[in-house]
Amino acid sequence: MPDPERRTPAELEVRPDPALWTFLSRERRRARASVRWDGDATLGHVVQSLGIPLTEVGALRLAGREVSPQERPVPGTALAILPVDRPQDVPGATGFLLDVGLGTLARRLRVLGIDAAYRNDADDAELVRDGAAQRRIVLTQDRGLLMRRALWAGAHVRGDRPDDQLADVLDRFAPPLAPSTRCTACNGDLAPVAAEDVADRLEAGTRRTYAEFARCRSCGRVYWHGAHREGLERIVRAARAVVARRRG
Ligand SMILES: [Zn+2]
Repeated sequence: MPDPERRTPAELEVRPDPALWTFLSRERRRARASVRWDGDATLGHVVQSLGIPLTEVGALRLAGREVSPQERPVPGTALAILPVDRPQDVPGATGFLLDVGLGTLARRLRVLGIDAAYRNDADDAELVRDGAAQRRIVLTQDRGLLMRRALWAGAHVRGDRPDDQLADVLDRFAPPLAPSTRCTACNGDLAPVAAEDVADRLEAGTRRTYAEFARCRSCGRVYWHGAHREGLERIVRAARAVVARRRG
């Protein structure tokens, strides 16, 4: 018996939103493109075969009707592919997990108090496993990683420069900001601490110049209020502006 779901292979018309063109091959970067359908693949497979991870797709529509990635194409009916809404809410997410190579972005997120786990030696399987176990959104620039079946949640990070990458993550998720509450080295929480309790960790000049200190609950690293002030304030100001624009 043939699979009743299986149909005759056909050319399908796809209409990818321009926000998703960055994932497409050059000849498909247009409002209407065509793709060969084998008669069996689901809509989700068709979209990923174009190079678009489903993590980046907000909705699929066939003739104006919203459809699930598990459904199959209807030949003769164009498939509209829309990007994720911004800000994107991910119910149950506890924070982010960053791919190797995004260490600078991880530190910038931590400066803003955003939970950003990162290891510079994690492989793809570990990122997928840890992201699912810890309910973290995996941030990466690797499309193959985003297409892994076991991924719990993920997002493609736009931009080559850390400033652009940070702006993209803030624009996409508009997370709550809590500057200077998280250790930039290890992602641990900071707790206020008296100067005399950390005196042995400080140089005399630092002890004289600053009055407020905090210590990481995880790694013990000591921070003092006012250090690297200017660069920090620039990052915080820019971040607040992006989040406010998204959250209104
Ligand atoms: Zn720490």
